Amino acid sequence: MKFKPPREYIKARDVINSLPEIGPITAERLVQYLIMNDDKRETLIAALKLLRDLKPCINCGLITDEDECDVCKDELRDPVVLVVKTPFEVHRVEDSGRYNGRYFVVYNLLSPAEGLSMDRIPKEKFLRFIRKFSINEIIIGLPNDVKGEVTAYFLVEGLKDVKITKLASGVPRGEELSSLDSYTLYEAIENRVPFDL
Ligand SMILES: [Zn+2]
Repeated sequence: MKFKPPREYIKARDVINSLPEIGPITAERLVQYLIMNDDKRETLIAALKLLRDLKPCINCGLITDEDECDVCKDELRDPVVLVVKTPFEVHRVEDSGRYNGRYFVVYNLLSPAEGLSMDRIPKEKFLRFIRKFSINEIIIGLPNDVKGEVTAYFLVEGLKDVKITKLASGVPRGEELSSLDSYTLYEAIENRVPFDL
């Protein structure tokens, strides 16, 4: 008789495999590891349950356990916003302890090669954000490649009376900002240059 793994095994493997950046082999290895390591498995289950309480901030998209994140609730922040792709970059910049502006997380980028689906970019939310916090400078901190640039143009198109800058050109092209250490990232903010429309 041909051996087939238990149904539970296949289900768990397929769910893990459906996650981004996890291929079938990694999924298989993870499932086997979690079966063999009770403590890791239970810790993971507990951690995943905690995620149910988290959601993106209604203003800026940062992950929070309330409607508004702590940065949005902080009235002492400067009226400057750093636009980033993911919350990772925010964590890095906050680690530097030297930036006192606000953030806006877009999560998705427009991709000319895959067709421009504008609805993936929260432009209305961004405009509301600019008004709500009386923002006077937008710092583009999106990846320094075609996708990042197209997304940035789409976000700031039509905005008036707001200064628009981007991170210093020292940031390697196409490199995910989250891979930079907090010092380098802060230096890139500090040495920002005008964003030409
Ligand atoms: Zn927020």
